[in-house]
Amino acid sequence: MKKTDWPEVFQPLIKKYRGRKHPLDYQNRYQLTVSVILSAQDSDKHINEIAPDFFSAYPSMKELATAEPADLYPYLSKVRNFGNKCKWLTKLAKTLGTDEQIPSTMEKLTELSGIGRKSANVIIRESGGEAEGIIVDLHVVRVAPRLGVAVGDKPDKIEKQLMESLPKKMWGEVGMAISFLGREICRPTNPKCEDCVMNASCVYFNSEIKGK
Ligand code: SF4
Repeated sequence: MKKTDWPEVFQPLIKKYRGRKHPLDYQNRYQLTVSVILSAQDSDKHINEIAPDFFSAYPSMKELATAEPADLYPYLSKVRNFGNKCKWLTKLAKTLGTDEQIPSTMEKLTELSGIGRKSANVIIRESGGEAEGIIVDLHVVRVAPRLGVAVGDKPDKIEKQLMESLPKKMWGEVGMAISFLGREICRPTNPKCEDCVMNASCVYFNSEIKGK
């Protein structure tokens, strides 16, 4: 069987979404880091709504480092898993002390409380850093197997398969591009395959929909 040329297959998607900013609103790396942590298991839209009041009260790591978890509850109690997130944020701020100490590498970012590979990949991409992995959020977990570039539902395993299929120079853009496709076109139910730039190669479309 002919091996799929994934770098070529992904070109239309990269072209469509290259450089598009992450949907989280942020003004600097401090706000980016906090928002990324808050958005886990919650929606970017919701975090964008509650974040301005939080950032007025805690404008940088320096102020956040003075807080205890319960001090953050009035601002974050509507965020999913807020108890843990308040703990992670205050611990992280006390560890770092200032915004300048926010790391830039996967190794250092994932040592911080509340930051896993997905969050680190987002922070690195939005900071303009060199990608060390590929963003795999819940949209990518759904869309990558539909496309046929990965199997399973474990983010770490899907990231590994994407990294093995694509050259490093594509890592920084491809995860967010798949995520945007999932947000806009490849929805959980009734994906808009006719409008999708990936439909010529998509395994799900060609076997499950067109093939029927
Ligand atoms: S063709 Fe359909 S199933 Fe495949 S990625 Fe596009 S929207 Fe999703």
